[in-house]
Amino acid sequence: MPSSQYVLIVEDDPGIGANLRRALATDSIAVQWAATCADALKFAHEQTIDLALIDLGLPDGDGINLCQQLLRRQPALPIIIVTARDTELDVIVGLDSGAVDYVTKPFRLAELHARVRAHLRRVAVDDSQLSVGSLRIECAARVVTVGDRVVELRAKEFDLLTCLAAAAGTVLRREDLMTEVWDEHWFGSTKTLDVTVASLRKKLDDVVAGAVAITTVRGVGYRLERS
Ligand code: CA
Repeated sequence: MPSSQYVLIVEDDPGIGANLRRALATDSIAVQWAATCADALKFAHEQTIDLALIDLGLPDGDGINLCQQLLRRQPALPIIIVTARDTELDVIVGLDSGAVDYVTKPFRLAELHARVRAHLRRVAVDDSQLSVGSLRIECAARVVTVGDRVVELRAKEFDLLTCLAAAAGTVLRREDLMTEVWDEHWFGSTKTLDVTVASLRKKLDDVVAGAVAITTVRGVGYRLERS
């Protein structure tokens, strides 16, 4: 992971803006909060952004136009629209604007945080190579090797391993892994996750025993580390 990723929050409601900033800022995420389109564009001009959260109703313009302006400058920028408008038409218009995701108010901060982290990890791993110890993942080619041996994985096993490797050394919560690897609208049991972790562990160990470890953190989730 890069040492710092930049998230731009564009929100004119002081309460929501402050909450979002507090919730999202971490050691590895720097947050800039703009209350107007003009301030957002000024910041985007000065700094490469890794993700933007945009409210649709802004005092000096519409969030959809802002999306388009930001994407002209930075076509691959992931944008999450945060809005109180939740009609189907607005969803379609929002996604037509090039936004990758959509959250309606009132939203749960934990859920929004999970989505932000998921999109940021995708940015970080896009077209790149991840390595943890002797484990190497070619993200675009979807090839996994340990040393000089290839590990054959099913699609979900590969996606899960990539998530874990992108955050190697830190615990990923079960709910976040479900959201990221399966579907953002998953519900019910996370047993699928445990089954996939078990088969992934076995396949990695069958190729080179003990090269990396997927550690279970009880009550929280999983962590990948070199052993
Ligand atoms: Ca607003």
